[in-house]
Amino acid sequence: MPMTRSSASLWRKRRTASMDDADRADAELEAMLAAGLSRRSPSLKPCMACHNCSDDVAEGVLFCSSECRDDWEKRNAARRRSGRA
Ligand SMILES: [Zn+2]
Repeated sequence: MPMTRSSASLWRKRRTASMDDADRADAELEAMLAAGLSRRSPSLKPCMACHNCSDDVAEGVLFCSSECRDDWEKRNAARRRSGRA
């Protein structure tokens, strides 16, 4: 099997290149959403509604989507920067 070694190293190289930081961040975000956790927003409590758009969410979940989570954190950070809690 003369092709085995070269095709294996090619596969590994391509896989490493496709698994970039954005992919890892997405996977991490999905895992946190699934668990209803948010490391950067410890004060938020799950209330069966998305904290960003008030859409219905499953029990223990803070946001209906990663977009809403990002949106909320952006607005929350802007509030903190302006000095209002
Ligand atoms: Zn939402």
